[in-house]
Amino acid sequence: MNFVSTRDSNVRNHFKNAVFHGLAPDGGLFIPENIPVLKAHLQNKADDIHYLGYEMMRLMIDDIPSDALQEIINKTLTFKIPLIHLEANTYLLEVFHGPTLAFKDVGARFMANVMEYYLKSKNDSVTILVATSGDTGSAIANAFHNKENINIYIFYPSEKVTHLQEQQMTTLGGNIHAVEVQGTFDDCQKIVKSALMDNDLSRRINLTTANSINVARLLPQMIYHVWGLQQLKAYSDICPVLSVPSGNFGNLVSAVYAKKLGFGIEHFIAATNANNIVPDYLKTGNFEPRPSIKTYSNAMDVGNPSNFERLLCAYNDNLDAMRSDISGISISDEDTLAEIRRVYDETGYILDPHTAVGVAASSRADVNSDTPVIVTATAHPAKFPEVIRRAINIEPEIPERLQVAVAGKKQSIVIAAEYEQAKDLLE
Ligand SMILES: *Cc1c(COP(=O)(O)O)cnc(C)c1O
Repeated sequence: MNFVSTRDSNVRNHFKNAVFHGLAPDGGLFIPENIPVLKAHLQNKADDIHYLGYEMMRLMIDDIPSDALQEIINKTLTFKIPLIHLEANTYLLEVFHGPTLAFKDVGARFMANVMEYYLKSKNDSVTILVATSGDTGSAIANAFHNKENINIYIFYPSEKVTHLQEQQMTTLGGNIHAVEVQGTFDDCQKIVKSALMDNDLSRRINLTTANSINVARLLPQMIYHVWGLQQLKAYSDICPVLSVPSGNFGNLVSAVYAKKLGFGIEHFIAATNANNIVPDYLKTGNFEPRPSIKTYSNAMDVGNPSNFERLLCAYNDNLDAMRSDISGISISDEDTLAEIRRVYDETGYILDPHTAVGVAASSRADVNSDTPVIVTATAHPAKFPEVIRRAINIEPEIPERLQVAVAGKKQSIVIAAEYEQAKDLLE
C-alpha cells in the first residue's frame, strides 16, 4: 500500500519512505492511501494481540516480510493492555504498562523496531528529531536508546515538563541528546518542522522525526483500540463510545482508523483540557490554532494539533460527517482535579490527570446509559505525583522502572527558541 500526503494524494510513498521522511515533501502528513476493511473472520478470531496486530499491520505495511513484521509486533507489545471496568458503563483501557508508563510506548517501540529493521538491512544511519511536551520524549528516548546507527535529539520546553518526565529524557545519555528549549512546546514543534523542511540541512544529514506525525507511530495505535473492543465483549455486545484524551490527536486518529477497518465503534469523544481548539472547531467550523496553555494534563497542552490534517482527511473535509462521529469536550483543570477526587472516593481507583479528562468528558457527553464507554487510560498516575497530591493528598507509588530514572544525572543542551541555534547544534 502507498502512503499519500494529507495535502496531495498524488504524493505517494512506500511505508519505508514515509517512515524515514516523517513529513511529506509538500509539508503534509503521510496517511494510508486507503484503509481496507479487515475480513470478518479475523475479527472473530482476534483473542491474541500479537496475531491481531499482525493482521492489522499487514493490511497496510507490505514492504516488510511476514516473519519480520510479526517479530516487530511481538517485540513492541511486551506488556499487558487490560480493559478495566471502572464504574457503571465506564471502562478504562490501560495502555500505560510499558517502560515509560504512557501509551506512547506502543508507537515509539513499534517505530524503533521498524527503523532498526530497515537500517540493518541497508547499513545506513539516521538522525531523529522529536518535539515533546513531556511524554513523547521519554517514550522515544526509552524506545531508541542504544539502537545502532540512530541518533536522537529531543526538543522539550524548559521548565514546562514534570521533573520525572525530564529525568526520563535526560539521564540515558549515549545516542539520546536532550535539548532544553527556552520557549513553549509549539516553539519546539516549529523548530523540528523547520529542520525537516530545510533542504540545505537534509542534504548533509539523514533527518526524520518521531513525533506522532510519523505514520509508524500512528498505525500500531490502532491495535490497542481494537484490543479494547475485543476485551469489552466479555461485558457487553453493544458498540461502545471511545473517549480519547487528546493533544496532538494522533491517538484519536488511530481510533478513527480502527473504525474504518470495520470494527464496531458507536461514537468518539475528543476529550481535551483548556487547549480546546478541536472542540471549538466542531462547534464553529473554524480551525483556529492558538498558543498552548499550561494545564495539569501537560502532555495535552497543544495549541496547534498536528494530526488535525489527518482527522480532516479521514472525513473528506466534511464537517457534518465529523460532527456525527466525534463530540469535542473540553475539561478545565479544576474539573480534572474534581474528577480524580470523585473517582478515587467512589471506586478507590487513581486516575492520572489525562485519563481524568477523558472520564470527565464522557460523563458530560450525551451517551445512552446502556452504551459502554471505553476511556483510553493514557498514563500511569505515578507520572504526575504533584497533581495527584493536589487532588487527593496521596503520594502515588512510583514503580521501580521510574525510580531508576529519578536517580540518574540530568544532561541537557540549553538553547533559545530559535531555529538557527537548533541548526548549529545539529550540524
Ligand atoms: C501524548 C499524550 C496524550 C495526547 O495524545 P495525542 O495523540 O497527542 O492526542 C494524552 N495523554 C498522555 C498521557 C499523553 O502522553
